[in-house]
Amino acid sequence: ADSAAQSVKRAGGNGFAFFEAHMQAGVREQVELARDLRAALAGEAGNGRLALHYQPKIATAEGEVTGVEALLRWNHPLRGAISPVVFIPVAERFGLIMPLGDWVIAESCRQIAVWREAGLQMRVAINLSMQQLRQPEALVRRFETALAQHGVDARYLTCEITESVAMDDASATERSLQRLAELGLSLSIDDFGTGYSSLAYLRRLPVSQLKIDRSFIQDLESSADARAIVKAVIELAHALGLQVVAEGVETEGQAEVLRGKRCDKLQGFLFARPMPADELTRWATSVPDDRLRFSASVYATL
Ligand code: C2E
Ligand code: MG
Ligand code: MG
Ligand code: MG
Repeated sequence: ADSAAQSVKRAGGNGFAFFEAHMQAGVREQVELARDLRAALAGEAGNGRLALHYQPKIATAEGEVTGVEALLRWNHPLRGAISPVVFIPVAERFGLIMPLGDWVIAESCRQIAVWREAGLQMRVAINLSMQQLRQPEALVRRFETALAQHGVDARYLTCEITESVAMDDASATERSLQRLAELGLSLSIDDFGTGYSSLAYLRRLPVSQLKIDRSFIQDLESSADARAIVKAVIELAHALGLQVVAEGVETEGQAEVLRGKRCDKLQGFLFARPMPADELTRWATSVPDDRLRFSASVYATL
């Protein structure tokens, strides 16, 4: 952590050094971000807005929108948009991930209800942190409260858990996953392929979906190895009764390969970027179903 702070110092000197999305913030910046995030969570005016953006998941065969993934956005009052890759680790480190996660759960339930009022049955997948799963009772209560408050059925919610978190064999984690499944939520393993999980272990968890990590999707057209890995993952997942989603699909070529391998759902910039809720509503209601079936290129023009 010290060297990270030093490199930030070298880069900018005053603790307000510019940093890229994938660089870890230095210690001083983390402290400042944590303070500002706490203020944003408290809803204090002038401390920037938290929002969920939504990215569609598309059924490969039918071309229908089957649901969306909710991705957290924070518009910092001075720094502008800050990536969750930067502020989620800050929230985890400074004890803010529970309130932040609670906000995400409540906000997605509220939005599901808004969409329902507008006649759209939209399933929403939210991302969960390890620390949220470490407190099964608190987490389950939070879901129950938010679902009841907005009159939302649990089957409209999916929880995405990264592979490394799912492989954590702590009993609390496993109990959380069991309790969430009992509540009626679907569970999905995110960024699959980046960890070292055995499918034999995953099979014991109440999981219904695997999301293949973007790194494999990126290499689909250029690497025979990536194609072999993706093919094997899809076949094994299907043999275990799991649905497969490809994340980060950016080209028509990648989508073609994935269709050929019977990947169930596709998600990525080729179809749509994560969008604010009202934009997603317009997008979802303006894409004619029959056009979705044939080509992804139509999405780019909408
Ligand atoms: P993730 O859950 O794996 O989400 C996918 C990331 O890939 C998102 O980045 C999304 O915007 C991006 N993406 C989608 N399609 C494409 C594509 O075609 N190409 C490329 N290059 N990228 C694509 P984002 O929104 O910056 O989120 C990054 C990570 O932050 C997420 O990875 C997730 O781990 C975490 N995160 C986001 N929202 C939350 C949240 O509410 N709670 C928690 N605990 N983590 C979150
Ligand atoms: Mg995810
Ligand atoms: Mg992912
Ligand atoms: Mg990812």
